[in-house]
Amino acid sequence: MPGGLSRGRIPEGADMGRSSTQRGGAVTPGRTAADSPPGYPRYRAEPGGRLVLAGVDPGQTEHYRKKKEVLKELETQRRRIRDLQERLYAENRQGLLVVLQAMDTGGKDGTIKHVFGGVNPQGCRVSSFKAPNPEEANHDFLWRYHKSAPARGRIGIFNRSHYEDVLVVRVKGLVDENVWRERYALINEFERNLTRNGIRVLKFFLHVSKDEQKRRLEARLADPDKRWKFSKNDIRERAFWDDYQAAFEDAINECSTEHAPWYVVPANKKWYRNLVVARTIADTLEAMDPRFPPAERGLENVTIPD
Ligand code: ATP
Ligand code: MG
Repeated sequence: MPGGLSRGRIPEGADMGRSSTQRGGAVTPGRTAADSPPGYPRYRAEPGGRLVLAGVDPGQTEHYRKKKEVLKELETQRRRIRDLQERLYAENRQGLLVVLQAMDTGGKDGTIKHVFGGVNPQGCRVSSFKAPNPEEANHDFLWRYHKSAPARGRIGIFNRSHYEDVLVVRVKGLVDENVWRERYALINEFERNLTRNGIRVLKFFLHVSKDEQKRRLEARLADPDKRWKFSKNDIRERAFWDDYQAAFEDAINECSTEHAPWYVVPANKKWYRNLVVARTIADTLEAMDPRFPPAERGLENVTIPD
């Protein structure tokens, strides 16, 4: 993986860590406007291709070198999201589901805070998913996610998601292999159903390196104000790093579809991660083209009584 894609270079499959002998890598026909690179890398895992996660450099930052260089651009993208979300809400015909997945310390919380910080809370809902409670565990695995899926007019953010059921569940052997393997197809159907009902689905894997996770865990331990975020369980999970990477790689390859693509976001640098996620969401919302509904007729003659 070459470090740092320069502006203007289209991230073909080769740049997404595919090996040349593997299927995929070509620009897929039928892309929506949001998926045609507008001059910056998208990091989209091409549907039908075979992404090799180890081939994607988590430290790349395009031509940017430091946070200061992206702050204005990030603000522009945040404003676009805010304005488009207002239209989406008013229009009330389409919705957006943003799925965030990452290894521990990968930055899901920080991404939500920095990308959606300016959005009207009324049109936006974050759902965080932990290990299922007894009621959830007694239902089919998609039940709790479907219940939290956004309605038309809304943006839903999944902090962890239905993908846990092919990630932690697989790594920890919580169900048999034939059960989690079948879930890829069930997940694709679930996401297709949402799409067919007006809900766009965008999925981001925040890709950090194992070294970066170590640094972040150490930082949490060292700072009394961050220690609450530290859990000894994070160390136990870290021991399964390779198994998780393999599970993520399969989930991304099995479930990156035209209707619900996966994006593998280089996330070692938090400011670059925020920029990539923000502009992908803004471009997607723009391609959805939400419009304010027409005003009632005859408003020209209306006066407000005293
Ligand atoms: P996060 O790590 O997402 O920032 P947190 O630290 O507040 O959140 P954790 O308890 O560490 O909370 O994270 C939630 C835990 O729930 C993770 O270990 C995750 O693997 C687990 N989990 C989520 N969904 C499932 C599921 N479907 N089955 C089993 N475990 C799950
Ligand atoms: Mg955690």
